[in-house]
Amino acid sequence: MSYLIDGKTGKWELVMGLEVHAQIKSNSKLFSTASTYWGAKPNSQVELVDSGMPGALPVINEYCVDQAIKTGLSLNAKINKKSIFDRKNYFYPDLPQGYQISQFEHPIVGSGFLVIETENGQKSIGITRIHLEQDAGKSIHDQDDKSSFIDLNRSGCALMEIVSEPDLNSPEEAAQYVKKLRAILKCIGSCDGNMERGNLRADVNVSVRKPGEKLGTRCEIKNVNSIKFIQQAIEYESKRQVELIENGENVNQETRLFDPNSGETRSMRGKEESHDYRYFPDPDLPPLMINDDRIEKIKNQLPELPDEKKKRFKEEYKLKDYDAEILVEDQFVSSFFEELVEKRDSKIVVSWVTVELFSYLKKKDIQLQDSEIKSKKIGDLLDLIIDGSISNRQAKEIFEEYIETDLEASDFIKKKGIKQVSDKSEIEALIKSVLQKNVEMVDDYKRGKEKLFGFFVGQVMKESKGKANPQLVNQVLKDLLSK
Ligand code: ADP
Ligand code: MG
Repeated sequence: MSYLIDGKTGKWELVMGLEVHAQIKSNSKLFSTASTYWGAKPNSQVELVDSGMPGALPVINEYCVDQAIKTGLSLNAKINKKSIFDRKNYFYPDLPQGYQISQFEHPIVGSGFLVIETENGQKSIGITRIHLEQDAGKSIHDQDDKSSFIDLNRSGCALMEIVSEPDLNSPEEAAQYVKKLRAILKCIGSCDGNMERGNLRADVNVSVRKPGEKLGTRCEIKNVNSIKFIQQAIEYESKRQVELIENGENVNQETRLFDPNSGETRSMRGKEESHDYRYFPDPDLPPLMINDDRIEKIKNQLPELPDEKKKRFKEEYKLKDYDAEILVEDQFVSSFFEELVEKRDSKIVVSWVTVELFSYLKKKDIQLQDSEIKSKKIGDLLDLIIDGSISNRQAKEIFEEYIETDLEASDFIKKKGIKQVSDKSEIEALIKSVLQKNVEMVDDYKRGKEKLFGFFVGQVMKESKGKANPQLVNQVLKDLLSK
């Protein structure tokens, strides 16, 4: 066990299970034909069922069922051929029916697993179950001082609740788990994984125990909607629990909220038990039956999953584990990478995508998918490096400006007056002048201090103001020094 919390009385182990709510990517809702389009005018996408009108009956959306089956299969899970929709009864202003249609004892997907990378290698995280359920509406409190409003556009949208076993033992593992799960959902297209819009959010169950002891009492932190917040919430909550226990108090099983501004969690309500919800099978909906043919058909249509892609990338393009992992996290990124690497050496492509391009996107705070950058744009620039027209360093210097111009790569560097010196005699002259200025070092080098080679290269590059072609410098320098 690598991650332990230091307490006054010794080390503590952290134990977590996550309940991830993933909104199914579907044009219409789980039990109505209302649109799920994001950003529409409040209450413009609500049918009678979604607003809890008496007499309105739910009709299952088979497309959403297929998405849940697909998700289960991608998580190596058992698909239950018979599952039951239950009513989970509670009152809340954003829940007009007075109950949520969910699944309880008989969910559509049973146990499975997914694999994450940890610093100690791969680890399999158990999936307990996935159930299909409706989302609630949204309460809006920030419009004016006096009133609250309800928007029912989200009411009735399809959710998958993906429950993990308590197999996660560090904030980093929880983050890896959510990233891997998101990558899988995005890849198969069952959820768009957009955490900012709340399309993927996690309830994080946290407990602590002395290593080897039985599970401690857990607190559930509700609705955390970014990977960074998940990590922060876990760090805060686990320390809080350790302090409580070490001060002779008990952890109350309760529901807590994470406040991103303070980085703290605070109590929201005592934990309700399942019997509080008076679950019972929804009399308006028959059991959901799924036959083998349907499962088989969906299985045959599954795309290459992130783990398979990662394995292939490592073999085909000789990538390091870390690079492969981040390239397959987003399907759009991995296709972009494959377009580039088709005609070019993978080494230069990997470093330009994962370092230069990613840091540009991070700085601009956008996803590659939402940017206007095409793989040709990057490819054209890489080709100029590869054919020696410009150096890697020159390319880095102009990268941001280049991305934002409409000019073709070759026109752009012409306009900027950038050119790499690839003329052999010019480079020879540069090298000779450097060697003349450093006669003693040249002697040292010839007597065996080979490390100095890098120093000479550096000096030549400096003299040329970064314009000398580095391969050519290396080659000519080697020649001249061996004379
Ligand atoms: P509920 O639906 O009431 O929250 P579940 O039994 O479905 O309860 O469990 C919810 C989650 O809590 C699961 O992901 C499970 O792995 C996790 N969990 C259960 N016990 C513990 C514990 N002692 N510490 C941390 N997580 C736990
Ligand atoms: Mg729960």
